[in-house]
Amino acid sequence: MAKFSINLKEGKLKKDSDIIVGIDLGTTNSLVAYMDNGKAVAVKGKNGKSTLVPSIIYFGPDEQIWVGDPAREKLATEPQNTIYSIKRLMGKSYGDVADFEQYFGYKVIDEDTESLVKIRVKDKFYTPIELSAEILKELKQRIEADLDTIVSRAVITVPAYFNDAQRQATRDAGKLAGLDVLRIVNEPTAASLAYGIGLEKGEDQLIAVFDLGGGTFDISILQIQDGIFEVLATHGDTFLGGDDFDRAILDYWVDQKGLAPEVVRENKKLGQSLRLKAEEAKKQLSLNDKFEATIDDLELSLDRKTFESLIQPLIKRTLDSCANALKDAKLNVSDIQHVVMVGGSTRVPLVKQQVANFFQKEIYDALDPDEVVALGAAIQADVLAGNQKDVLLLDITPLSLGIETVGGLMDVIIPRNSKIPSRVGRQYTTSVDGQKNLKIAVYQGERDLVEHNRKLGEFILKEIPPMPAGLPKIEIQFLLNADGILKVKAKELRSNVEQEIEIRSQYGISEEEMAKMLIESLKNAETDMKTRALLEARNEANNIILSAGKFIKQHQAILSEEELNQTIALTEVLKSTVKEADKDAINRAMDALNQYTAPLAHRAMDVTIAQAMKGKKI
Ligand code: ADP
Ligand code: MG
Repeated sequence: MAKFSINLKEGKLKKDSDIIVGIDLGTTNSLVAYMDNGKAVAVKGKNGKSTLVPSIIYFGPDEQIWVGDPAREKLATEPQNTIYSIKRLMGKSYGDVADFEQYFGYKVIDEDTESLVKIRVKDKFYTPIELSAEILKELKQRIEADLDTIVSRAVITVPAYFNDAQRQATRDAGKLAGLDVLRIVNEPTAASLAYGIGLEKGEDQLIAVFDLGGGTFDISILQIQDGIFEVLATHGDTFLGGDDFDRAILDYWVDQKGLAPEVVRENKKLGQSLRLKAEEAKKQLSLNDKFEATIDDLELSLDRKTFESLIQPLIKRTLDSCANALKDAKLNVSDIQHVVMVGGSTRVPLVKQQVANFFQKEIYDALDPDEVVALGAAIQADVLAGNQKDVLLLDITPLSLGIETVGGLMDVIIPRNSKIPSRVGRQYTTSVDGQKNLKIAVYQGERDLVEHNRKLGEFILKEIPPMPAGLPKIEIQFLLNADGILKVKAKELRSNVEQEIEIRSQYGISEEEMAKMLIESLKNAETDMKTRALLEARNEANNIILSAGKFIKQHQAILSEEELNQTIALTEVLKSTVKEADKDAINRAMDALNQYTAPLAHRAMDVTIAQAMKGKKI
């Protein structure tokens, strides 16, 4: 398959010369690496200190955006304007994150729908994609400054358990940052590659990758055969990591010093200083036996033994996960050939010791555990660039394939650069009550609006039994075979009505045209994203207006006159914003209506409202 690289500044094609970078877009820290004369290296910032960029974004006055260390300084003083852990929200709907909303110091919008979450900062609304793009832009600038060249192609890593929506969101973030994302790679796969595992032909082995980061823990069991990585099992805890080590130390000191927990909670400055000292203590105890410090006149100390007893229960939880992962993969400890250590928290000696002990083997920990994923991503990038002769390149699809959804938006089903053959299914629903026919229009290309993409064909799913909007479950399946033949099948799952077509996806398009489509998509990424955000906000608003109307009709009896009038008034405001081209105004109006009606809907115990809005509409 052809490889293109693009000079974004000049909008010209360059053939195969420029570099592909590897990016670890982490929950706590992110970094970028590249191949320098056959060796993967991570790039340091201007100050030359660290390769890590804290995954934190601060929104300052005058639309200033800071990323990384300077943003981190604002966490304690301006939590509402400082976004962290955005990776936790990638590709998630509000329903997915409702349970841990209190974890965030910033405002996550509750829309009571299945649509993707947004974050409100001041008067603007941001998607996790846009926020992640800010981190990626920072990394892009960092490496461009370091190498004094334009970088436009990247491999980005994601956790092995990321689903289709989360992977697509990561791709979109890359595109928005001006990066052509050649491949999304699993973090454990990248970590293995960094140790050279899986680069030899004819290898056949089983690997465990133990990844303990700042806030999350993952264990992945991989099978590697002839350079192909398969995830046999993953397990973990999305709220377990180095932050919990820090908290254990902090709690210990609070207890030791007889400080009242409320005092620490209310005195933000003291709380923050203690937290930072706790992290410092933890890091020092990875090397030394004792830590001592003072905050104001508070004398703090901790020895390694005490620290280890504090974190022992936390480590135990990671080992339980390892046992579960092995069980899921139907393997024993003795089946595992190598154990790869990833994540800053695996620097803690007790963690290393106990993991080695659990798996009964020496662990791979020679590389920097913060960098290992990015280094592996750089190696994967090098493989894609065709620089590693021994590794076979798989067939991939050169352009994304998807269907048109409400508002003329492109919904990608098989992303570009996916391995072929490929089969992906996704569920949709209708947008109109009693809808009997549904048009499925198939497109190819990278733009957000289908009008800018290539139409490959369309068909109509007929005779869907009449149901309220949102109730039909329509599964669309894309099956792309090695010859580029795309089979698209649509099936309404409640009635089993189905229909399919076959399309030759590569027919009548040259490599030059494909490259041009790619350049256009990167050039227009920002405006496309804005248009998409506006259209999506309008679609959501229209659904909410519809549901609010239904709600008023059905539940008039239980609403007071004031509640009725206020609901109508807020709906009218929303209706008028839908006509304007300001997505933030639409979002604000939706937010206002939702906040007002949520307790009313709750009172009516109305499930229909929530249900009517489930699923993307075609
Ligand atoms: P993520 O994958 O979530 O982005 P990282 O792999 O960068 O996270 O790990 C960050 C965590 O590693 C933080 O909790 C940090 O305190 C911890 N860490 C970094 N260095 C050390 C060290 N020397 N000893 C113990 N923990 C460390
Ligand atoms: Mg990580």
